[in-house]
Amino acid sequence: MNLDHEIERRFVCAKCGNVRASVKRFAATGTGLSKLFDIQHNEFIAVSCQQCGFTELYNPEILEGKNNLSNILDLIFGG
Ligand SMILES: [Zn+2]
Repeated sequence: MNLDHEIERRFVCAKCGNVRASVKRFAATGTGLSKLFDIQHNEFIAVSCQQCGFTELYNPEILEGKNNLSNILDLIFGG
């Protein structure tokens, strides 16, 4: 299961109910050595509503470690 794709497919905006999302991954900048060695742990997924711009952040490290990811996405976006 591709997490980014699944989020985009299931997205429902919590603010306006729109179902079109823009999903982007970005690395939060750490400081010093963590910037070099800990990039995986600073990565986030930003999900923006294409209608109202409301943006949610998810931590892919947590979600991708779940073996019931599909159920969790159902909870987040109401199935
Ligand atoms: Zn919206």
